Amino acid sequence: MKEGPAVSHSEAELEKREREQAQFVADVSHELRTPLTILRGGIEVALERERSADEYRQALSEALVEVQHLIRISENLLFLTRGSSGRVTLSFERLDLSRFLEATVREFETPAGEKGLTLAFRGDDRPAPILADRSRLKQVFVNLLENAIRYTERGSVSVAVESRGDRAVATVADSGVGIAPEEIPFVFDRFFRSDRARRAYRGGSGLGLSIVRWIVEAHRGQVRAESRVGQGSRFTVEFPRIG
Ligand code: ADP
Repeated sequence: MKEGPAVSHSEAELEKREREQAQFVADVSHELRTPLTILRGGIEVALERERSADEYRQALSEALVEVQHLIRISENLLFLTRGSSGRVTLSFERLDLSRFLEATVREFETPAGEKGLTLAFRGDDRPAPILADRSRLKQVFVNLLENAIRYTERGSVSVAVESRGDRAVATVADSGVGIAPEEIPFVFDRFFRSDRARRAYRGGSGLGLSIVRWIVEAHRGQVRAESRVGQGSRFTVEFPRIG
């Protein structure tokens, strides 16, 4: 009978899962606490005494920012937990990665322009056909482009697509704050945010790149990050090319 080792293995697995669960709950609580504390503080101050209509309006719009942040966190968490328990269904269709990304990049011209950043797209002359779920694929590049713009104060964000053998490869590069070498292994982890990122942008939750990785892997692809602090970052996403 080989039951001994099998049982102890599953006990170890169970313990590991429990530890992860506890860590997850701790991370979620921590992430929710900041917006909730700000929300409470703002409401308390607004209620301290009689205010003008303008002051109430101001307090409500500040509260709305925090509520939107909380909604984003809960939507992202819901997606990730559904994803890890196999409850996200993808509907795959054939599409050209180059054409798809060209259209997605165009949607970011306004936010990039508002920050004074150059936004460039370089497609591939050869087709880059892949099997993908359109809305999930869009989410991948929206998250990467939002980050690139968010963490770049000056310079450029550039997106390129090329076919490399049996892979269709997309890169999203920026000339922003960058990521320290010791942080690179963690950027795709749930809730990871560097101090540099926290200083640059308070509204993040560290879930965007976990979602990117989940979606890319659900497409049998891979994603990786390279970066130099103070010079910029590059995210490379590879998908199997079909046909
Ligand atoms: P968020 O942006 O909400 O913090 P993400 O999961 O999208 O969460 O990113 C995780 C972390 O990875 C960020 O907080 C930041 O530290 C780092 N990061 C991601 N993209 C970039 C980028 N383009 N430039 C610099 N740092 C980045």
